[in-house]
Amino acid sequence: MTALMGKTALVTGGSRGIGRGICERLAADGALVVVHYASNDTAAKDTVATIEAAGGRAFAIQAELGIDGDADTVIHAVQAGLRERTGRTRLDILVNNAGINDSDGGIDTETPQAFDRLFAVNVRAPFFLIQKALPLMGQGGRIINIGSGVTRIALPGELAYAMTKAAIETLTRNVANQVGSRGITINTVAPGPTRTDKTAFFLDRPQAQAMVAAGQAIERVGTPADIANVVAFLASDDSAWLTANLIDATGGSYLG
Ligand code: NDP
Repeated sequence: MTALMGKTALVTGGSRGIGRGICERLAADGALVVVHYASNDTAAKDTVATIEAAGGRAFAIQAELGIDGDADTVIHAVQAGLRERTGRTRLDILVNNAGINDSDGGIDTETPQAFDRLFAVNVRAPFFLIQKALPLMGQGGRIINIGSGVTRIALPGELAYAMTKAAIETLTRNVANQVGSRGITINTVAPGPTRTDKTAFFLDRPQAQAMVAAGQAIERVGTPADIANVVAFLASDDSAWLTANLIDATGGSYLG
């Protein structure tokens, strides 16, 4: 496929899990992909090497999200990398994928520190990445935010995390109305239970897989490729008439 030939894409948290699946797919579709990561150099190098071995183009940039100056650090590295490889700094596709869910974020259990960290990584970082990426984007630009199916399910321990993803849905709708006149679209993709490093501790257990499958219309755990397929469509020209949407990519979780 060459739907994204000549385009450039930044995927935050692109070195592992869903982000890696997205990087591999966008590169296979022809984009030059910026694989962003926090600290795991080995995983980032492996992702870039896998893309290149398949004939694609990618480079990695490192930047911790959730700390002061994070968005500036990412955008400066993206501009430098793109300038070196393409002679310009135009960014066509931004995928805000990196996100954490490492606390027991219930109303009885969440701490102010963990709450602030969740919002810093999951909400503040994408907000300011969009702010700083927009000047690099032009007609046909695509912003895709990774949300979560948990915004419509009242899972007690996921409360604070679900609130961060609900904020992403609001961010998407509001920005859509401001960038549409520039031919830029922005949508949220909400995965359900997806097998990644983050969820492996749970989803690798056969009992957990059976439990998840029982709550799904499509009776299995999701894969990074399932999500990447949806993101690839939203990144393509074919999605030009879709903006401000929340795309449920859960495989039909908890439909009753
Ligand atoms: P993973 O934990 O598997 O992804 C890790 C990636 O994010 C790595 O590239 C990692 O970098 C990077 N990363 C993590 N924290 C930071 C940080 N503070 N700053 C910069 N980069 C960071 O996550 P998933 O693939 O499971 O999830 C991806 C997205 O999908 C998240 O937004 C998540 O909320 C959402 N989601 C996931 C679901 C699931 O079941 N997996 C379900 C619903 C939504 P490094 O390798 O250097 O650590």
